[in-house]
Amino acid sequence: MNRHSDLPFDLKAATRIRERYPTPFHIYDERGIRENARRLKKAFSWSKGFRNHFAVKACPNPYIVRILREEGNGTDCSSLPELLLSERIGMSGEEIMFTSNETPANEYKKAFELGAVINLDDITHIPFLEKNAGIPEIICFRYNPGPNRQTAEGNVIGKPEEAKYGLTREQLIEAYSTMKAKGVKRFGLHTMIASNELSPEAPVITAKMLFGLVAEISEKAGIDFEFVNLGGGIGIPYRPEQSAVNLELVSEGIKSAYEEKIEKEGLPPLRILMENGRMMTGPYGYLVTTAIHEKHIYKEYVGVDACMANLMRPGMYGAYHFISVLGKKNSPEDCMYDIVGSLCENNDKFAIDRRLPRIERGDMLAIHNAGAHGYAMGFNYNGKLRSAELLLREDGEVEMIRRAETPNDYFSTFDFDGASIKMHD
Ligand SMILES: *Cc1c(COP(=O)(O)O)cnc(C)c1O
Repeated sequence: MNRHSDLPFDLKAATRIRERYPTPFHIYDERGIRENARRLKKAFSWSKGFRNHFAVKACPNPYIVRILREEGNGTDCSSLPELLLSERIGMSGEEIMFTSNETPANEYKKAFELGAVINLDDITHIPFLEKNAGIPEIICFRYNPGPNRQTAEGNVIGKPEEAKYGLTREQLIEAYSTMKAKGVKRFGLHTMIASNELSPEAPVITAKMLFGLVAEISEKAGIDFEFVNLGGGIGIPYRPEQSAVNLELVSEGIKSAYEEKIEKEGLPPLRILMENGRMMTGPYGYLVTTAIHEKHIYKEYVGVDACMANLMRPGMYGAYHFISVLGKKNSPEDCMYDIVGSLCENNDKFAIDRRLPRIERGDMLAIHNAGAHGYAMGFNYNGKLRSAELLLREDGEVEMIRRAETPNDYFSTFDFDGASIKMHD
């Protein structure tokens, strides 16, 4: 989905859309989202009860989450609004996984009321949860393997032992025993250690690790597990020379690990869950923007009407996003540009030294792979307003699924009855 030819709309379509919805806007491809979700589900069809819980933070739009739900996804939430979003589209119970950290009391309360599967990030959250919500019927804990986890360098979310998340191995045994003593009978085990990981080995290594742990904890704490949640983190090919993770290969690897470490060991059947966000929507969303300025100083710049507030990844991580100049698919890439936004920050660059066809003012650019952690990471710094989100339906219709912000939205949080606290008597 990286190359020009894969764009689900052309210049003509984009021009029509722009007449109705001015750029910049995010647009999502329903067909791409559905086909990909089906591919993942099919790859794991051997695993009874397999489910991906879409990490809502990647693309928190209820229309998108509803499409994914129709394709069999649950949600993975980590805040009250994400829980409310799941509830608003009709979800409840174990369709929702609540994987949070440093969780406020009211969020546990809501997750508990919804009957979501609560995934605790720390052993000290057991009394906190009990006091503020209650002891649920099913409980999950997040494992942090610390220095035990060996993977290829670079793609793990930092080093696990430096990461704030999860429980240690020793704590896990105590935590499950405590929950068992409190009457809990249903258990799951979770970890999340990779991000944007393109190796098909990584999820297999994670699965092996969790299967082994399930065996150990089952024995030591005297419990049975119902599921493991391998977390999210399957990567997408942002760069044209990269390719998508082979899901069938991932599935095969996990299947043989399951047979060896669960079935052969005589452990009860385990459901396999995942929590992918990025791979579910990332490749199927585009930020469409118009070139409004060109500038020739020490470098060649093209100024566009989107900025880092619409897509933070390049500015924040130096992330690469492929860019198509609409209608110029076959033009020679004989120019070298920095594609920049209007924020008063010099890292507001969608591309640096990028070879592209000559860009004229008015040309439309599609910034690819913006469908996850794109709109979602938007912000209002510098008075920048969030754009609209559009959905390209399977029948070719384009539907607005979130309107663009207006200055009134920007000022809306000043709309209160001036309550001040008296600080001096
Ligand atoms: C962010 C996150 C995910 C999703 O990660 P992706 O890289 O988008 O797949 C899943 N689980 C947890 C706990 C997360 O924080």
